[in-house]
Amino acid sequence: MNIFERIEDIRAFSLEGKRNGKTIGFVPTMGCLHKGHFSLMKEAKAKSDVLIVSNFVNPAQFGANNEDYQKYPRMPEQDNALCAENKVDAVFFPGKDEIYPLQNSTWVIEDELSSGLCGRSRPGHFRGVCMVVAKLFNIVLPDIAVFGQKDYQQAKIIEKMVYDLNFPVKIIIAPTVRDNDGLAMSSRNKYLSPEERKKAPTIFESLENAARQFVAGEKRTNEITGEIRLRISQSGAKVDYIEILDAEILKPIDGKTKKVLIAVAAFFGATRLIDNIVVTL
Ligand code: AMP
Repeated sequence: MNIFERIEDIRAFSLEGKRNGKTIGFVPTMGCLHKGHFSLMKEAKAKSDVLIVSNFVNPAQFGANNEDYQKYPRMPEQDNALCAENKVDAVFFPGKDEIYPLQNSTWVIEDELSSGLCGRSRPGHFRGVCMVVAKLFNIVLPDIAVFGQKDYQQAKIIEKMVYDLNFPVKIIIAPTVRDNDGLAMSSRNKYLSPEERKKAPTIFESLENAARQFVAGEKRTNEITGEIRLRISQSGAKVDYIEILDAEILKPIDGKTKKVLIAVAAFFGATRLIDNIVVTL
């Protein structure tokens, strides 16, 4: 497995693959890899010839007060070993100055799907995500890129960015991978105390319960969000948002809605966790 820190080296690697008629699959990550990331790698590998994974903690997507940028877990050696185990062909592991040598004054802003949910709670977050993903697409030159449903809003924003800006990249959204008790795997789960970790599966339990209510015909979204709020609050967490939206346009559901997104963000102590479930009507 190759590990490249320089833009010119990963680009040369990708171009060489293309010259040999290979398709390039890409999984962007911020490292601290877990089974959620591995499932994206598997999906990308199955749909392409050469698999590239990037490992870059993107400062531009951490919002006010740098959020947890400084303390975001970093374990590149372990990550590289895990990438090798998962049949990654090349890891792109750039330093901050390789990606942002100067303060950029050009931004990529998606301003429709980004306005609610995490975009409301974390101003500037998706501008940073779009910026780094656009840069990585221009650097890695992938044919396909895989994103996780766990970050549903992010995946939909990237799809829209690719559509709006004509990136020649096919976006695939892969299902959320969970621990046995239902908690969505996340690099941030490491921050949870044992007590918080025990309570955290409440998020998915309440989402599943909400999905069942929806399928059973309950259409009063306030009732459903109210019950999710109650369950999560009773577990000791502080709700950031609970939203029920049309899963395609991320707007309130109406008669035309075919897929419903039920999305939650909640703080367990200082740790902000997100999760979602999509119900097809
Ligand atoms: P991150 O390293 O957290 O920025 O995530 C990198 C990619 O992995 C994103 O596309 C995430 O949506 C995806 N991802 C993170 N956690 C999971 C999970 N539990 N299941 C599936 N994909 C995930």
